[in-house]
Amino acid sequence: MTNIILASPRGYCAWVDRAIGMLDDILQAHWAPIYVNHEIVHNKFIVSYFERKWVIFSDDLDAIPSGNIMVFSAHGVAPSFVKAAKDKWLRTLDASCPLVIKVHNEAKKFIKEWYKIIYIWKKTHQEAIWVADNDLDNIFIVWNKQEADELVFQPWQKLALLNQTTLSVDDTKDLISYVQSLYPDIQLPWFSDICYATTNRQEAVKEAVKEADALIIVGSKNSSNSTKLCLIWERADIPSLLIDTPEEIPDDFLHGIKNLAISSGASVPDSLVQNVITFLEAKWAKFLKEIITKEEKMIFPYKLDLS
Ligand code: SF4
Repeated sequence: MTNIILASPRGYCAWVDRAIGMLDDILQAHWAPIYVNHEIVHNKFIVSYFERKWVIFSDDLDAIPSGNIMVFSAHGVAPSFVKAAKDKWLRTLDASCPLVIKVHNEAKKFIKEWYKIIYIWKKTHQEAIWVADNDLDNIFIVWNKQEADELVFQPWQKLALLNQTTLSVDDTKDLISYVQSLYPDIQLPWFSDICYATTNRQEAVKEAVKEADALIIVGSKNSSNSTKLCLIWERADIPSLLIDTPEEIPDDFLHGIKNLAISSGASVPDSLVQNVITFLEAKWAKFLKEIITKEEKMIFPYKLDLS
């Protein structure tokens, strides 16, 4: 018999809940189709839920007739894309997370003050594309120490360091320290760019794996904060899975496992975690306890304003 230990906080952060609510609200108030520039949040289940309600996820503005409604996803949107959408006479609603907007505004402020920015994350992620779109000549995206080593700046150049919101707290701390060792005068944001939800979910999983000999993270493979939870299992060196649905769990996964920790990324509805628990309970696992490392009280107000 395997014991199940649930890590908490897990699942939806306050903004994912908001962004999904915004899209639901706009579907109630307007005729479909509603367009979204990117997956509203990185979760397969949520995307297919909205596709069934005739939401079209597409950034191909040429294929969208003028006058339609476009919602910008929680990951933010490049300024040039917003302008192109306006030029097409699309009515828009911004569901960008305010904590992503914070990083975006920091980038704008530093550029105005003649800084060059080292931004930690992958060039292909929606959030990095959006930040870099502010000023490609002054934002340098790095993913590891080697990429940081390849940068060359004039000795008098003012530098600032920003990062994506859903990174691994530990890995980012290491990379920030490394960049600081290269550029001791580099400016950092006044509080961490890694969001509260990412930080809290990583802390909770770290606590849960102290008592576990296996880990399951429920989340999609393109979800940054879900994949960063997986880095914790690499450090703990225990059998682990990142899954969207329980059917992805191999038949023999529970063999020899006494305590199994379960958590989920910030874009995952808790019903998916409950599905996994129900599935495992049918295979001789039983719920033991929930480890709660923090109560989350964050609330994001919003108005359903189309512009
Ligand atoms: S995970 Fe963090 S950055 Fe992403 S939507 Fe939630 S609060 Fe915002």
